[in-house]
Amino acid sequence: MNNIVAIVGRPNVGKSTFFNRLIQRREAIVDSVSGVTRDRNYGKSEWNGKEFSVIDTGGYIKGSDDIFEGEIRRQVELAIDEADVIVFVVDVEEGITPMDEEVSKLLRKITKPVLLVVNKVDNAMREKDAVEFYNLGLGEYYTIAGMSGSGTGELLDALVELLPEAQAPDPDAEVLPRFAVVGRPNAGKSSFINALIGEDRLVVTDIAGTTRDAIDTTYNRFGFKFNLVDTAGIRRKAKVKEDLEFYSVMRSVRAIEHSDICILVIDATRGFEGQDQSIFWLAEKNRKGVVVLVNKWDLVEKDTMTTRDYERKIREELQPFTDVPILFVSALTKQRLLKALETSVQVFESRRQRIATSKLNELMLPIIENNPPPALKGKYIKIKFCMQLPTPTPQFVFFCNLPQYVKEPYKRYIENKLREHFDFNGVPIDIYFRQK
Ligand code: GDP
Ligand code: GDP
Repeated sequence: MNNIVAIVGRPNVGKSTFFNRLIQRREAIVDSVSGVTRDRNYGKSEWNGKEFSVIDTGGYIKGSDDIFEGEIRRQVELAIDEADVIVFVVDVEEGITPMDEEVSKLLRKITKPVLLVVNKVDNAMREKDAVEFYNLGLGEYYTIAGMSGSGTGELLDALVELLPEAQAPDPDAEVLPRFAVVGRPNAGKSSFINALIGEDRLVVTDIAGTTRDAIDTTYNRFGFKFNLVDTAGIRRKAKVKEDLEFYSVMRSVRAIEHSDICILVIDATRGFEGQDQSIFWLAEKNRKGVVVLVNKWDLVEKDTMTTRDYERKIREELQPFTDVPILFVSALTKQRLLKALETSVQVFESRRQRIATSKLNELMLPIIENNPPPALKGKYIKIKFCMQLPTPTPQFVFFCNLPQYVKEPYKRYIENKLREHFDFNGVPIDIYFRQK
């Protein structure tokens, strides 16, 4: 499921306060796993059992009153393109501003659902003041106080009602890897795709994806059958190049969420930059398989050390998830393109492998016995049994007497052992300790 909710509005109305409230609980869980917070503008949320992603499109246009109208316009256009539901936040303290009117004008033209949210309604008097927002011509509104959370429950009830239902996959359909080719503008994504599938574009079928505008196209190349997720970046090739990190990253959200494997193309002449890291993080957060292609390798002066040094540098940036294939390719000279495809298919297979419980226990229990989790407060932790969960991405649960005593370093140790013995190259895995 990949429903996307975008929050728009002018600066200081309380977008990020509301955003933080939405992602709070889940984020705490995710971050305790990775130990890092890398992005404050994208997160996962859940309400009434429905999951969705939230984008705070205001994230990069902060604070000042003299922001350009053009920026707001782009923010709203991004939301209109990428989101399933748009949450438009206004501020009852300030009342309607000219910028609110501009945004409303854009939002009135579209068919996607828009929720008008009047924020900072901290008391009953402000509830009355909120009435003026009918004048925006967007219909009914919701009043909330993002800071205290009042009103957000009703808003979320309405919001999840608007999200499209996830379609059950066709059980007869062949299971093909879905690749999303992602990366910064100009990294060579289109060149890579063209080199791979050829200008003739050997199209087998078109399958409409589970969301309205993510389209998979099936290709059969070099003996591999796969789907390419049509990314926003490719569709909008003709449009302006998006230089701002935030925009190009957010343009990738839908494609990444819709894929199994993200093929992250980076530009060898520029190295692994902030934008690359954000996209990588997005893929990992969504538990997608990842293959890193260092493209334009033909342009790099090489001596014997170059590849190794380059690779080491990238792995440093990828921490803590370093078990990822990194290939040096050229879309121009077609160097190692077949290898890139092969590797992507391999990561897909690794991501869906199921390890038999007996095999897993035979291997892991002796390892654990030799190096058990350190005792805490005089108490010994005994891990008795483990298994892989029947989930779409690899998750392992270890049953023990005192799961709360197992700390992050030991989890890492277990993860590393699993990676040593099974091929999870490019595949994020989750490890849980539970009471038996
Ligand atoms: P953004 O620029 O739209 O992301 O706005 P922020 O979330 O950074 O909030 C701007 C200011 O409004 C901050 O000082 C918040 O503390 C304040 N704020 C946010 N929500 C509320 C609320 O419900 N009531 C009041 N009184 N202030 C709020
Ligand atoms: P996109 O924005 O990521 O889709 O990037 P493009 O595929 O449009 O490529 C951007 C520019 O880089 C174009 O001028 C390409 O010709 C060039 N380019 C792409 N791949 C390579 C490569 O492997 N080697 C060289 N030398 N140039 C490349």
